[in-house]
Amino acid sequence: MTFRSETSTVPPIVLNDGNVIPQLGFGVFQVPADDAFPAVTTALEVGYRSIDTAAIYGNEEGTGRAIRQSGLPRDEIYVTTKLWNSEQGYDATLRAFDASLARLGLDYLDLYLIHWPVAAAGRFIDTFRAFQTLKSQGRVRSIGVSNFTVANLQRLIAETGEIPVVNQVELHPRLAQRELREFHAANAIATEAWSPLGQGTVLGDRTITAVAAEVGRTPAQVIIRWHLQLGNIVIPKSVTPSRIAENFDVFGFELTPAQMNAITALDSGSRIGPDPDEFTFGLID
Ligand code: NAD
Repeated sequence: MTFRSETSTVPPIVLNDGNVIPQLGFGVFQVPADDAFPAVTTALEVGYRSIDTAAIYGNEEGTGRAIRQSGLPRDEIYVTTKLWNSEQGYDATLRAFDASLARLGLDYLDLYLIHWPVAAAGRFIDTFRAFQTLKSQGRVRSIGVSNFTVANLQRLIAETGEIPVVNQVELHPRLAQRELREFHAANAIATEAWSPLGQGTVLGDRTITAVAAEVGRTPAQVIIRWHLQLGNIVIPKSVTPSRIAENFDVFGFELTPAQMNAITALDSGSRIGPDPDEFTFGLID
């Protein structure tokens, strides 16, 4: 049983394993445990059919409860969670997957991601082999990575013989990730954008507000539209019902090539989050 994209209004992206993911989803980073249930419930009511959480977010329980109590069939919701750094390694990954699934209260996952490569620890190959085991058991439909560099991806593909379906990376107008997007495109890896709104910091940019005025939309809608037209999978987050709805109302307009280029030109290589080559947070030893 895989995600039934025909019941969703969001364009489907076909992954390299043949499964599909909605191009627009809802992220729950920094959503406190108690707020996850109402936020995800609102998102599903608005029409989102893809939810992105992670073990480290501490909100898998509320997220899973909202999914289970939505009244929607399980195969009409696409669920992603992520393996935290301290759980990398073959056996630890299998245990962490069981724990995430139990917290979510689900019997399978649509997409499991290695949250960060933590390349210095040298465990992401074993971790991905555990992902392959979980996939062969049918407990997860698709397997991918997050925050992987080109070098990390090359090594993963060479040593496991499997291409991850997505690489979820920091990507917004100030960090357009051209090199990674080109590598992904050449290798059939879908690009998924985290902090797609730059955690709100890009919304006041003068180029963004000017384009928003031109198209009669909000800055958030313009940035989400930029992602969609680039071909990115995009997972904006909000706990405010009006913004959750606003961020989903992005299919009734289009940016011109000139507007797209003006936004892409804002790229200054500025990160909000950590450099993936340096991030080892949560590693036990
Ligand atoms: P985001 O870019 O989605 O920004 C969210 C913030 O933008 C909100 O908290 C709010 O302040 C503001 N905002 C949202 N909609 C708005 C609107 N319509 N008008 C005005 N302000 C608005 O940031 P994010 O939450 O960091 O990223 C989105 C998702 O990406 C996360 O929830 C999570 O699922 C994922 N993520 C993954 C990683 C990773 O390492 N894989 C890291 C960070 C985030």
